[in-house]
Amino acid sequence: MVERLVVIGGDAAGMSAASQARKRRKPDALEIIAFERGHFTSYSACGIPYWIGGVVDGPDALVARDPQTFREKHAIDVRIRHEVVEIDLDRREVVARALDDGNKETRTGFDQLVYATGAVPVAPRWPGSDARGVFGVQTLDDGAAVREYVDTERPERAVVVGAGYIGVEMAEALVRHGLEVTVLDRAGQPMSTLDPDMGALVHEAMEGLGIDVRTGGSITALYTVLADGDDTADPIVDTARAIVDGHIILSRALAEQGVFPAIDVGRSLSRVMSDIIGPEHTEAARTFRRLWSVYEENRDLILMGAYKDGSDPVIDAAVAHHPLILEFLRQGQKELVNLNVSVTQLVDNFGA
Ligand SMILES: Cc1cc2nc3c(=O)[nH]c(=O)nc-3n(C[C@H](O)[C@H](O)[C@H](O)COP(=O)(O)OP(=O)(O)OC[C@H]3O[C@@H](n4cnc5c(N)ncnc54)[C@H](O)[C@@H]3O)c2cc1C
Repeated sequence: MVERLVVIGGDAAGMSAASQARKRRKPDALEIIAFERGHFTSYSACGIPYWIGGVVDGPDALVARDPQTFREKHAIDVRIRHEVVEIDLDRREVVARALDDGNKETRTGFDQLVYATGAVPVAPRWPGSDARGVFGVQTLDDGAAVREYVDTERPERAVVVGAGYIGVEMAEALVRHGLEVTVLDRAGQPMSTLDPDMGALVHEAMEGLGIDVRTGGSITALYTVLADGDDTADPIVDTARAIVDGHIILSRALAEQGVFPAIDVGRSLSRVMSDIIGPEHTEAARTFRRLWSVYEENRDLILMGAYKDGSDPVIDAAVAHHPLILEFLRQGQKELVNLNVSVTQLVDNFGA
């Protein structure tokens, strides 16, 4: 029986090893079987951001050698969409699961084994990190998933967590797609492996592309709790509201008045706001909320004409500012609003 080499992982390391083995030993002396759990072999992960950004075509242009070429020209039996789930050293066998065939498991014996499954990315296990629209980028299949989402869902904003070189490249790629991009990193600068003076240049260049770079903070969780209906006392909603940093309440009444987004400013809350914005912004936001709440509390009186101007200076101020407040809150469904412009408007109109 000919000797058999089994390779686990069909990208750079795995298929280089398989190809080198084939160069040294002909098919009649060595059988080679390679298992790859994704759809692609010998691909350039480095090109993923450039494919997503539309600089290069993909995914085929990123594949140096596809499974068929390996099979036909190199006599390497590549089995894509096969995930190795166990290595049985006693029996010298691997157990592979056929991902497109009901996870059917097969055992394959080996004489030599090359284990080339790549590095394990640091993927924080935040609650919510498996939600729709949240992606990691390691394999070409990951890249394909991002590209498909960007092409079909046409998102308008993206947050990239991590400003290492992959994060920076991904941010640039998403900007090329016209997305408004924010990059977050807990280090004090993007590309923290660089010296600070070089990091500052990268930071400046990213901002020059319109990327909002925020450093020195940590993401701890992503939560989306959508509660339908008006029962905000629902126990799940109530618990979520108690543990997250803030919440947004949408109001049917506001939507009926044509206010979009229909956010009930009085009942929505941020617990971290004062930690992340300046005193001027905080003060203006507080005044805005107060005027909004006073108007809402007296809405019926005001609308029925039962409130007499001049009876209460606080209500007078709320009535006088109400049109400005509604104008500030309204936003077109496709309209992009720049945060800095918004803050300036808020401070100019409602600041001390
Ligand atoms: C977005 C991005 C940009 C990059 N840019 C650069 C760059 O500019 N310059 C540079 O030098 N490097 C860059 N790199 C790094 C470079 O791509 C990697 O160093 C290289 O791909 C490592 O090759 P590998 O074969 O060891 O592992 P990987 O490329 O990770 O391949 C491992 C393969 O094993 C498969 N696999 C894992 N577990 C199993 C299993 N149980 N069963 C079957 N198959 C399995 C995976 O699907 C994967 O295809 C970049 C990486 C990424 C993700």
